[in-house]
Amino acid sequence: RKFVYDFSEGNKDLKDLLGGKGANLAEMTNLGLPVPPGFTITTEACKAYLESGEAPAALRDEVSGHLAALEERMAKKLGQADDPLLVSVRSGAKFSMPGMMDTVLNIGLSDESVHGLAAQSGDERFAWDSYRRLIQMFGDTVLGIDGERFSETLDEVKSARAAVTDVDLTADDLKELVQKFKAIVSEETGRDFPQDPREQMDLAVRAVFDSWNGSRARLYRRQERIPHDLGTAVNICSMVFGNLGPDSGTGVAFTRDPASGQQGVYGDYLQNAQGEDVVAGIRNTVPLADLEQLDKASYDQLMQIMETLENHYRDLCDIEFTIERGKLWMLQTRVGKRTAAAAFRIATQLVDQGLIDEAEALQRVNGTQLAQLMFPRFDSNGGLKGADQIGWGIAASPGAAVGKAVFDSYTAIKWSRSGEKVILIRRETNPDDLDGMLAAEGILTSRGGKTSHAAVVARGMGKTCVCGAEELEVDTKRRCLKSQDGRIVEEGDVVSIDGSTGKVYAGEVPVVPSPVVEYFEGRTHAGADEADELVQAVHRIMAYADRVRRLRVRANADNAEDAARARRFGAQGIGLCRTEHMFLGERRELVERLILADTEEERERALGALLPLQQGDFVELFESMDGLPVTVRLLDPPLHEFLPDITELSVRVALAESRKDANENDLRLLQAVHRLHEQNPMLGLRGVRLGLVIPGLFTMQIRAIAEAAAARKAGGGDPRAEIMIPLVGTVQELELVREEAEQVITEVEQRHNVELGLTLGTMIELPRAALTADQLAECADFFSFGTNDLTQTVWAFSRDDVEASFFTAYLEKGIFGVSPFETIDKDGVGALVRSAAEAGRATRPDLKLGVCGEHGGDPESVHFFHEVGLDYVSCSPFRIPVARLEAGRAAA
Ligand code: ADP
Ligand code: MG
Ligand code: MG
Repeated sequence: RKFVYDFSEGNKDLKDLLGGKGANLAEMTNLGLPVPPGFTITTEACKAYLESGEAPAALRDEVSGHLAALEERMAKKLGQADDPLLVSVRSGAKFSMPGMMDTVLNIGLSDESVHGLAAQSGDERFAWDSYRRLIQMFGDTVLGIDGERFSETLDEVKSARAAVTDVDLTADDLKELVQKFKAIVSEETGRDFPQDPREQMDLAVRAVFDSWNGSRARLYRRQERIPHDLGTAVNICSMVFGNLGPDSGTGVAFTRDPASGQQGVYGDYLQNAQGEDVVAGIRNTVPLADLEQLDKASYDQLMQIMETLENHYRDLCDIEFTIERGKLWMLQTRVGKRTAAAAFRIATQLVDQGLIDEAEALQRVNGTQLAQLMFPRFDSNGGLKGADQIGWGIAASPGAAVGKAVFDSYTAIKWSRSGEKVILIRRETNPDDLDGMLAAEGILTSRGGKTSHAAVVARGMGKTCVCGAEELEVDTKRRCLKSQDGRIVEEGDVVSIDGSTGKVYAGEVPVVPSPVVEYFEGRTHAGADEADELVQAVHRIMAYADRVRRLRVRANADNAEDAARARRFGAQGIGLCRTEHMFLGERRELVERLILADTEEERERALGALLPLQQGDFVELFESMDGLPVTVRLLDPPLHEFLPDITELSVRVALAESRKDANENDLRLLQAVHRLHEQNPMLGLRGVRLGLVIPGLFTMQIRAIAEAAAARKAGGGDPRAEIMIPLVGTVQELELVREEAEQVITEVEQRHNVELGLTLGTMIELPRAALTADQLAECADFFSFGTNDLTQTVWAFSRDDVEASFFTAYLEKGIFGVSPFETIDKDGVGALVRSAAEAGRATRPDLKLGVCGEHGGDPESVHFFHEVGLDYVSCSPFRIPVARLEAGRAAA
């Protein structure tokens, strides 16, 4: 095995072996771009080191060989006293990872060679500045000394010299600083700063290796599902110096605007500085365009290189560069991160430039980005500019929310009931805040990160959330929020929070609907040109996706209004119409009567009253989905949900009894509530069990569906109803319902003299159903995987409880990176879906297969359903574009 590659030996496709940084340094080297020479130690070497705790002997020799070659090429030796070769030691895994050790610059400087560097460069200040940087970075990242100790000392020296920035420090100041830094090292580690250059280098390499297993890096990998055994590469790169005076500098650049996707000159430049200064924000950078004035030759060359890179990578690239006394050097490139809007625009621009094809364009965007573009946002033209920002936190769940500040859940609920919009502000949230979070427009916390309770739950609810706004002080006692500059938001004051940027504003910032939603809604819009361009891009990408996708996309919708919106968003039918919503409101009383019925006659009467109401709902629904399939699920929830709350009712009856005027109906209700009370209602009398136990209930629903379909037919419509039975566990249940259904349907068909073409299928939401899918398919025209319930039943997770109680802990421990209710658990729940699909199709090759439930609109899950071979996914109307896009991406 070869452990070390010269930059000229690698290429961009070797990321596994050379890491992202190393592979791209090699690629640039081979493109003939000016990259300082160097070599990369492979991830294999890292793995060998981590396994045995020792660097393999072969590695040491190989490094020596490559170092010797480098020294020969540069005509100086590492740390050579009179003219030192200096290098940087840079980590670079396949995926960039927070918590990994980053980079040590200026390796090779020592008490002796610092004089050599000064003499060679003719710049004493520069030499000492480089040395103090080495000790600082080495001390912090390799020796594990708290970085504050160095930066505080630096600040002390600066203020003693009345220096505004570190450029104002003289050579003598820096010499003094080096002495102080060295003292810190001795004090903290019990030994002197290593003077042997090779030792410096080896220690730095080893520190990079070790950082692979640092706790933060491990946690990050667990959450992101990055395997732990990839290892990191290490790049040894000869130093070039941006801190050699005003004709030197360092910068970052993008080949296009990563915010908008626009082509142009984007980036920042800092004169007389070394790389890390730009990121650290110690001094103010100038816009990259200004480099044209400062150093035209380097600027022109950089523009040329950026074009080369973009054509070569066929994508937006970001770049790190350094100019050393008028000579340009490339230090890093990679395909750059971008905003959602930029992703769509860049993808279509690249198609127009002929750099990529449509299939590739689909891979350059994703459903998460599309979802981001669909949130309403603060109006960047009118309002946001003058908005009064008071703080800043983590953008935990996107959207723009405006409301009155409240500091506890009780107030949130109370105020929202009286029609106020509120923002719930807490130090951090816990399960007791759940109802308050539901009632609020948005949630703001001052503590906690992306996996905090507030963040996880808000994302699950689709609520805007900013968390961890640490500079804001939440005072729950005094019910106010204090900004760092001492301003105060009292309870009831309006605040605006931006879950896409993390910004917090005092007062109301105007919200505008997303232009992308306006487009999907088919509303014309008079937006700015920039929005038009984005809408154009989305339009084109959606067209590509629709052209290639195999999965059809349906909506979960219970009423004509949702159905109509779903259709505008591109739904190809309804995959789940829940009928329980049709029993609420005024109709609840009819359901009560049905439940209370003692005699056949009473029951018949209650059902008879419900029938025309149901039928009316279905007529509307079939009309809005005319010509497209509509899957109607028969009644599913436990009956107690339609009855009054047991405690409330008991109290009412007890009070009435004490006054001796107990009402007959209440007494009967209470009996029924007691009779129906279950310890575990979700595992109790619900779904198909209801249909089999309460005579006439399912028959009524089936009749309503059949009659509605017949009415639509008579009116010239094209209804395509599918009847779906929930919570089936065994084929016997299905057989009984089917028998009953067929009788009703035949009767209706004969009476109206039409063929209704109704089909009957089952949900697969119990493990037993999935395991006996071959049998169920004998009796079902279709399966619809109810993956919400299937996840609950497979994991024994109560969705209503676990997400708010211990999921945050699970996420923090990295047991899963994402809730299994959000993205399908492929190995467990998904395996059942796969085997049930196969078993069902083995019995009945034309069995139609779909999925309803939140997973139907989740990008990763959609890919899984495509791969398993389902016919369609069904999701909430708002997620339909996301599902269409992801279905296209899965097929492309
Ligand atoms: P990161 O991954 O944190 O960006 P890098 O390895 O890219 O870490 O290095 C940090 C900074 O140091 C960057 O600005 C980079 O350009 C600069 N840098 C790295 N190696 C050298 C070098 N050999 N000469 C000059 N600057 C360098
Ligand atoms: Mg970098
Ligand atoms: Mg269910």
